[in-house]
Amino acid sequence: MMRRFRADLHLHTVLSPCADLAMSPDQLLATAKRKELDIIAITDHNSTLNCKVVREIAADFGIVVLNGCEVNSQEDVHALCLFEDDHTRDEFQKFIDSYLPQIPNKPDYYGYQPVVDRDNQIITEIPWYLGNGLPVSLEEIADFTHYLNGLFIPAHIDRPINSLFSQLGFLPKELKIDGMQLTRYADEKHIRKLYDIHSDISLIKASA
Ligand SMILES: [Zn+2]
Ligand SMILES: [Zn+2]
Repeated sequence: MMRRFRADLHLHTVLSPCADLAMSPDQLLATAKRKELDIIAITDHNSTLNCKVVREIAADFGIVVLNGCEVNSQEDVHALCLFEDDHTRDEFQKFIDSYLPQIPNKPDYYGYQPVVDRDNQIITEIPWYLGNGLPVSLEEIADFTHYLNGLFIPAHIDRPINSLFSQLGFLPKELKIDGMQLTRYADEKHIRKLYDIHSDISLIKASA
């Protein structure tokens, strides 16, 4: 019998300016456990820096955690980039660090951006606002992700902002993707038809 896995490949920790400060690593894993998830990906905006702590404590919860992030491209398209190990995560983090615009965060307005340890103690705060687009095209981000053997998945394609279809209107031929992500309540059939998405392209659903 084929075993089925439940996965949520789009989750934010406290590091994301939009996320609740209560979204500590153990809270996040406890919630994932309650939802009977087997696999999750940590995908904060333009940062992978809280992946490590979640992976460190994930074994206690029996959950597999993928390294990831939700990159905002030059076109203001959000995409999930997922990596299998810490080396490729590090390499991708360097890529982000070299491009992230150094525009200071405004915590009162956007929210705090803490990197935390397993006790949810703040190790450091990212000074630059993580919600900005990197001055790099979606295609270049996809190519670099694939160079690191990662998966590249345009995020929440059914949303009216920051999605592949809201920003570009179509899937460019030269853009190599490993699937597309829909929001939780999206109607998969409707979206496939609406954007003429080929049946070879897998669609996944995620919470964010
Ligand atoms: Zn997004
Ligand atoms: Zn998100």
